[in-house]
Amino acid sequence: MFKGILITKDDGVYQAQLQDIDDAVLPEGDVTVGVEFSTLNYKDGLAITGKSPVVRRFPMVPGIDFAGTVIDSSNAAWKAGDRVVLNGWGVGETHCGGLAEKARVKGEWLVPLPQSFTACQAMAIGTAGYTAMLCVLALEKHGIKPADGEILVTGANGGVGSVAIAVLAKLGYTVVASTGRAAEAEHLKALGASSVIERSELSAPGKPIGKERWAGVIDTVGSHTLANACATTRYRGAVAACGLAGGMDFPATVAPFILRGVTLYGIDSVMAPLAVRQEAWERLGRDLEIARLDAITRSIGLSEAIAVAAELLEGKVRGRVVVDVSR
Ligand code: NDP
Repeated sequence: MFKGILITKDDGVYQAQLQDIDDAVLPEGDVTVGVEFSTLNYKDGLAITGKSPVVRRFPMVPGIDFAGTVIDSSNAAWKAGDRVVLNGWGVGETHCGGLAEKARVKGEWLVPLPQSFTACQAMAIGTAGYTAMLCVLALEKHGIKPADGEILVTGANGGVGSVAIAVLAKLGYTVVASTGRAAEAEHLKALGASSVIERSELSAPGKPIGKERWAGVIDTVGSHTLANACATTRYRGAVAACGLAGGMDFPATVAPFILRGVTLYGIDSVMAPLAVRQEAWERLGRDLEIARLDAITRSIGLSEAIAVAAELLEGKVRGRVVVDVSR
């Protein structure tokens, strides 16, 4: 038996409870991990509250990411004692996840925990931070250099936005943070933003093409914000789109793409190939000053996770929530 959150749907009643879980609930997999820390992502909030059909198999342990130590492995790549991180792959949705003391997964899904991070710090970064790094890598691989000009980061106070700012600043880029929470401007500057703009500058319907400003963009918002970001990206610049915090639509024209050669990169963290994940985590180990995340990270125990999941969906949570599964 091990302690964890279990979501059940018996006779149509959807319920998430902290309880002792039988090992028999663990799905098939060749590596068993002693989970130390997980996080609460927006998707976990949806899963725990049942507000959206994220969970597609019952009973289910939620938690789309975790960090911990291998307990047992029949996969040649891993042995007991190895420190690992997992993000995505349907874990916490179709395969039991990280909000428990134990998880059993496929070895191919795991990435080594960078030596520069503790398990707790890796989860302060979490799927949000790993996705931010995927966005930075897309801009870098496009060839954008700090000297090329400003990089816009939208949804700046969110998990993805915050880590993106910290990484870009460390790499020497000039970062412009777009936020709906102007009161947090100083905090965004402490993370590394050079300047802060109001969310409303980008969120209203705009022109098909506007004055060239951004060398590159990391967009977590979608909708008009993404369309306006593309329309104001400089000649042969690039936009990395990973989120839909402002909407799933994309009310744009092809003008930025065919007149300015702008490239739009789609960023997916869930099914990203192993080599891409390894690169992203290695780079986080080198290019993220983890201390910068301390100010936006809150640690809770498993027993608090159900209540905090509901707060997260109500927009009452700022920054990152790390879950210590031992308490
Ligand atoms: P958070 O909830 O932490 O942050 C989202 C931020 O977006 C908020 O802090 C806010 O920033 C801004 N925002 C919220 N609502 C609106 C709105 N209506 N209009 C404009 N801006 C808004 O989420 P994450 O940072 O973890 O994730 C960001 C997005 O990326 C989400 O849509 C998430 O689903 C997606 N995502 C995608 C992944 C992928 O694999 N593609 C992986 C991880 C996340 P501010 O207050 O500064 O304006």
